Amino acid sequence: MAGSGPLRQAIEAMPENKRMAVLSSAAGAATTAAADIPGPAPAQGDAAAGRGSYWITTFGCQMNKADSERMAGILEAMGYREAPAELEADLVLYNTCTIRDNAEQKVYSYLGRQAQRKRVNPALTLVVAGCVAQQEGEALLRRVPELDLVMGPQHANRLAALLERVEQGQQVVATEEHHILEDITSARRDSRVCAWVNVIYGCNERCTYCVVPSVRGKEQSRLPQAIRLEMEGLAARGYREITLLGQNIDAYGRDLPGITPEGRRAHTLTDLLYHVHEVEGIERLRFATSHPRYFTERLIDACADLPKVCEHFHIPFQSGDDDVLRAMARGYTVDRYRRIIERIRSRMPDAAISADVIVAFPGESDAQYRRTLSLIEEIGFDQVNTAAYSPRPGTPAADWPDQLEEGVKVERLQELNALVERVARQRSARYQGRIEQVLVEGGNPRDSEQVMGRTRSNRLTFFAARRPDGTAIVPGDLVEVRIDTVRSFSLSGSLV
Ligand code: SAM
Ligand code: SF4
Repeated sequence: MAGSGPLRQAIEAMPENKRMAVLSSAAGAATTAAADIPGPAPAQGDAAAGRGSYWITTFGCQMNKADSERMAGILEAMGYREAPAELEADLVLYNTCTIRDNAEQKVYSYLGRQAQRKRVNPALTLVVAGCVAQQEGEALLRRVPELDLVMGPQHANRLAALLERVEQGQQVVATEEHHILEDITSARRDSRVCAWVNVIYGCNERCTYCVVPSVRGKEQSRLPQAIRLEMEGLAARGYREITLLGQNIDAYGRDLPGITPEGRRAHTLTDLLYHVHEVEGIERLRFATSHPRYFTERLIDACADLPKVCEHFHIPFQSGDDDVLRAMARGYTVDRYRRIIERIRSRMPDAAISADVIVAFPGESDAQYRRTLSLIEEIGFDQVNTAAYSPRPGTPAADWPDQLEEGVKVERLQELNALVERVARQRSARYQGRIEQVLVEGGNPRDSEQVMGRTRSNRLTFFAARRPDGTAIVPGDLVEVRIDTVRSFSLSGSLV
């Protein structure tokens, strides 16, 4: 409870004007009615308050980056402006990731620096959002009593309401299960060309290594009309590429009502793609992350038939061994994964395939690990995000006795990374001399004479920022580039 034990010590360590308003804790220890009050919609463009400057640091996945953009939009609507540097900001928000231990530890080291700042400048507002906030809840206040607000990912849209409570002198924890209301604020997006659009929040899977379901809650799909409306707004503001986002995007629509006359669910990712494909001005569509268990042939056919859907698929396989996949509770076999890729390649021969993989899962033998390596060679991935297994609190695999030693993890990860790089380089070779359509996203940060963009297959591509006639190439241009240099994960070329 808020008033007992170590938490009381934490409160006592707080500046005097601060009061604890524990809306709830991850353990559900204390809840006040305030937790159920949806936040007032922050006034759009209401900069009158002139509240000072903010800084957001984002750790982790695309989902977190999308949440940060929405929270930045809310802060700007409240009257905050972006600070030139973290150490000059009046409000610092860390949007955190807890997928692996090293991501979590990084947050604590950042927080230490800000806590020190707060001790000499009590007016500083410190916010921890995202998955570490959800996982630790109240315990985070015990560890860092200087914090003003600890808020789980489901509360991103409520930032304005939560900060109002902070302004009233309360210290707030918002981690209770929350229905994510349709977001009427507008995100402050980093790109002017490519935008993320959340279509489903949360995850109902129970992969034995993964903390996501416990920190991001149950699946909540947005209505197709709301998604399309958001995309139309983005198109009107000049965005040309949309990536639809979900932790398990193939689950889209499972929680929405309706059955078709053929007996199918009325709302699936495939139907959504058809629904949003016609949004005028949007030239490219992508989606992530796909789950092999639910990836359908109907979806593959839609991707092949809908011209705006790009030929890039991010489908994590996690392991190349069936017994490890079973222990991970992934719900598919390596053979099913192979068949998905075969089907994609039969309809879209040049499609790029990327994935996530975990090595050194508890009990993974050398032979099982080698099957993962073989699968990477066999499939010929364009990119693979690799990780050594990291035990996460509250997940089943973290308590299993057959954890592998750190040395094994490091060795496997190193060998894996070298293989991924080699396979990606081999895959990249096919671009040599080809003409690729590139959507320009901005300047090359390392070379002011160049711009960069992506091919439909998601390869980063660099080329000269001016046409032969001297006119500038600008973000949003769709151009054709002849590829003359290939690297493992990027390309260079010249305008056709
Ligand atoms: N929903 C996606 C899926 O099913 O593949 C992935 C979401 S998760 C945010 C991103 C990646 O983090 C996973 O694909 C997995 O490879 C990795 N990951 C998750 N938990 C992990 C753990 N405990 N240790 C190492 N890597 C982990
Ligand atoms: Fe985690 Fe599995 Fe859900 Fe992906 S599908 S977010 S790995 S539980």
